[in-house]
Amino acid sequence: MHSIFIKKADVRIWRAKLSTPFRTAKGQHDFLANVLFRVELTNGTQGFGEAAVATHITGETIEVTLKHLKEAAWEVQDHSIAAFPSLTEKFKERFAGNKCALAALEMALLDAMTRVKKMPLWRAFGNRVRKIRTDMTVILGDVNDAENAAREILKRGICSLKVKVGGNFDMDLRRVAAVSKLAKRCPIYLDANQGFTAVQTLKFLKELDKLKITPALIEQPVPKEDWEGLKNVTRNTKILVCADESVSSFEEAKRLIKEKAAGAINIKYMKTGILEAYEIARMAQQHHIQLMIGGMMETPLATTASAHLAAGLGGFDFIDLDAPFFMAQTITRGSYVNKAGVYDLCGVKAGIGVTPQNPVNLRG
Ligand SMILES: [Mg+2]
Repeated sequence: MHSIFIKKADVRIWRAKLSTPFRTAKGQHDFLANVLFRVELTNGTQGFGEAAVATHITGETIEVTLKHLKEAAWEVQDHSIAAFPSLTEKFKERFAGNKCALAALEMALLDAMTRVKKMPLWRAFGNRVRKIRTDMTVILGDVNDAENAAREILKRGICSLKVKVGGNFDMDLRRVAAVSKLAKRCPIYLDANQGFTAVQTLKFLKELDKLKITPALIEQPVPKEDWEGLKNVTRNTKILVCADESVSSFEEAKRLIKEKAAGAINIKYMKTGILEAYEIARMAQQHHIQLMIGGMMETPLATTASAHLAAGLGGFDFIDLDAPFFMAQTITRGSYVNKAGVYDLCGVKAGIGVTPQNPVNLRG
């Protein structure tokens, strides 16, 4: 390992069509536009990383992510791959407002390093691999849209549904009721994407209770900076509250634990980078905080990389890695998730196991 160096690294914009715009209370994705980061080692091994740029959620842009990753591509060159993870240390601060760039850099280096070691990425996180099963999202829309989406999801064989709420209170109630009627035996996760206040959330859950609907959890009911609101919801409902946007760093995860602000955390590489995501997950587990693994609008490269963490470390109760099901185009090679949402990484020989399908045509 010490004699293997990073020969070169490059960066490209990575685009794909979506089968449907992905609508949440915070905005929508009309297409996938991410940044692909590639490293090539002196022994010929390649590693790939993806930055999923979610401008309407994090404020990150393609331009800044490209600029940062171009800098990183230049700076990691000629370093030994064995210098990872200290090699990425200096980028943590520099990419503080652009964590998806950090995630892409770490992903590519981890991919390359585990390929050199001829081990699947999940082994970096644990000593055995578990099959994990993703939910699928019912995006914002009307009742009809929700019913159609739920029918499609159930037809695939997926039996946990994440319903986006936080748009229109009454419409959301009717949507959740319609989905739960169709998916009686399936757990339903609600995700408000910061769209409610604490009072609205508690009222919403009460209304659902009247309809005898018990969601498995409610994710990020209130604006991310509204910690009092988050705690208010957590203290006043029996439904599990999961923090997503409120926890975008190790420090915020620590605060959540200390203040008992929620019972679960949605871990996403794009919010913190990979190494910090792992640290958050470990700390949360020590404090009996439940875990979800999630993502932004990502190709199977990044979703599979995330699946490696959940499958290797274990203890993730909620899997939300359904982005590949919203893509209208296949732009990656290697698939470890089936139509029914099962990620089975047993067959991954080395690295993430997924690579860009046609890197030469992706120059952006
Ligand atoms: Mg969420």
